[in-house]
Amino acid sequence: MKYSSKGNSALKEGLTAHLLDDVHNRRERFRAEVLQWGQKHMRQYPWRTPGRTPYETLIAETLLKRTTATAAARVYEDFLHRFPHLQAINDASKEELAQALSKVGLQWQRAKAIKALAHYLREVQGGEIPSDLHRLIDVPGLGEYSARAILSFGFGIPIAIVDTNVERILARVFQNVLPQKPPQYLFQELANSLVPSKSHGKYNLGLLDLGALICRYIDPLCEECPLASICDYYSRNRGRLIKEEPGRYETNIGLKLRRVREKKGIGLTKLSQLSGVSKLTIIRIESGKTSPRTETIGKLAAALEVEPDRLR
Ligand code: SF4
Repeated sequence: MKYSSKGNSALKEGLTAHLLDDVHNRRERFRAEVLQWGQKHMRQYPWRTPGRTPYETLIAETLLKRTTATAAARVYEDFLHRFPHLQAINDASKEELAQALSKVGLQWQRAKAIKALAHYLREVQGGEIPSDLHRLIDVPGLGEYSARAILSFGFGIPIAIVDTNVERILARVFQNVLPQKPPQYLFQELANSLVPSKSHGKYNLGLLDLGALICRYIDPLCEECPLASICDYYSRNRGRLIKEEPGRYETNIGLKLRRVREKKGIGLTKLSQLSGVSKLTIIRIESGKTSPRTETIGKLAAALEVEPDRLR
């Protein structure tokens, strides 16, 4: 069973048949690399132990809101021990729940939220955790990401999980395929088309961790990334090795920008004034620490009086 929030038509609206073929061609490699990387590098947390039940996954998702995984791990096992099922939460007082959650912080808000969630499941879902995306999204305090995590990790249903880290990987790997500002549903549809039916839990975890540890927002570690050979961002930006910083590469855009700027005798401050792009951003582009948006390239090109393609 596969879940999607908008159906395949939405993907087809956003991507032409040719581009869908492109995604299809890279799919097997993408899955295999993420799974292989995840096997070696996946972060270990107690809720990631195989065989966790939907309830145990739901509690993990609830604890992980507005805190770090390290903090959530401090209370997870004890909490499950004290409240091993939904009924135990319904039977507990807010004080008891808050006390069990004190090490993770915001304990009163969390106690209230968990109580509301358990009450809703008892009153509306007959005390069961639904194995259906839309009914799970309706549970107070969950949302689409958590609902998908519970389905994949708790129920073993092959479903794609997308957070900002996964979105970033997809935006970069399929940069040449996606529209300039892809709507969120398009990322979800793209993720749906990539998720494998087997090992989807390990694949989802691998992808989440790859985004957090390697495909970082600033300074992605492309040289260590298993997706580099199929990544549009990498092939666009791969440039010269920086002598002083082994392992780091200057981007092509960064190199070109600096060359054009220096040839025209324009300093960083002047270019910032002319283009409206901050000096720090220009420095980051030139040093390969960030990849500029098309709009930014346009502003810089206009300020330097060259065609934007001269900088790409
Ligand atoms: S090669 Fe770089 S940009 Fe592409 S997915 Fe890997 S870390 Fe991200």
